[in-house]
Amino acid sequence: MKSKVYFISLSPVDNLQTINQKLEKLLAQSALFSYVKKDDALVVKVHFGEEGNTGFVLPEHLRVICADIIKQGATACLSDANTLYRGRRLNSQDHWKLAQEHGFTKETTGVEVVIPDDTQDKEVIDVQINQKFIQHAKLARLFVDAKSLAVVSHFKGHILTGFGGALKNVGMGCASRAGKLAQHCDVAPVVHVDRCIGCGECEKICPVKAIHLENKKSVVDVKKCIGCASCLGVCPTMAMFIDFAAGDKVQNKMAEYSLAVLKNKKGKVGFINFANKINKECDCWGMENPRIAPDVGIFASPDPVSIDKACFDLVNHACGKDIFKATHPEQDGLKQLKYSQEIGLGNLDYELIEVR
Ligand code: SF4
Ligand code: SF4
Repeated sequence: MKSKVYFISLSPVDNLQTINQKLEKLLAQSALFSYVKKDDALVVKVHFGEEGNTGFVLPEHLRVICADIIKQGATACLSDANTLYRGRRLNSQDHWKLAQEHGFTKETTGVEVVIPDDTQDKEVIDVQINQKFIQHAKLARLFVDAKSLAVVSHFKGHILTGFGGALKNVGMGCASRAGKLAQHCDVAPVVHVDRCIGCGECEKICPVKAIHLENKKSVVDVKKCIGCASCLGVCPTMAMFIDFAAGDKVQNKMAEYSLAVLKNKKGKVGFINFANKINKECDCWGMENPRIAPDVGIFASPDPVSIDKACFDLVNHACGKDIFKATHPEQDGLKQLKYSQEIGLGNLDYELIEVR
């Protein structure tokens, strides 16, 4: 049976207030949070954005979403797990402070921000899933212990996974730093020395100092590399390569991590995707990235595969081509969705219901 995906379109002239009115309409007509019961304690999985990036879903929209949860007698908090690379979200204190700076305060959203501290054993957990690539997923315990979740994602391009939406937010986003490393560990770039002009851009952006220049050529220390792929994005001569089968592996592992997070939560998770401000790269980049598509709309569904597929289809329709393939020709982002369907996370087939 097809999963239902509710959708409301956005127009370039919509201001914050108009978008929030549309979001309220979407939530009302989709009844997305009908699974929420009185006294439930929901964790709302978000992405607070890296410093210098504004692609993230705005706190004012989270206020509308949290109000919809709270009016059913439940409580909510906003959360994200720490990152692998050295930005402002590497540890819980800095991550929390950046979230406040980006406007995710109790005054703005109506709820608290909680960042799990994965240096504390009690805040991480191994979840046994025995899948093809991952046997035990290493996750922030908060997301596993929560009986129900809301997952609010920004849909955009991604250098390793073609695009990122709900599945990326769950699979990669709820993993502890060790879990994120387990998903990225196959991705270490190689340098084509003939193409390298020794500009040093890769050395500057590498978050773990895994790159240095020798005789004006870039050298990667694969033992230090965490596979973030940032160096690929900045190289002006495309001298950095990864084995693109590694990108496929990241997508498969990410799907299996999503399975670990969503295990035992059937019917207890609602997904909301914002397909606006659609950038070439994810919101983890500490800089603005070029827009690759017009604003399309907001989506709501209980199915993470359907909602990402609907976003993918409608964004591409608005662009008149597969914009994610055009932007990241070496990646096929649909692989994450196909594999997710294969392991039982949801349906590629969906029924789109437009809210007006
Ligand atoms: S992928 Fe590149 S930027 Fe990222 S850690 Fe490895 S060498 Fe550094
Ligand atoms: S960014 Fe590219 S061209 Fe510049 S030093 Fe690194 S590999 Fe060489």
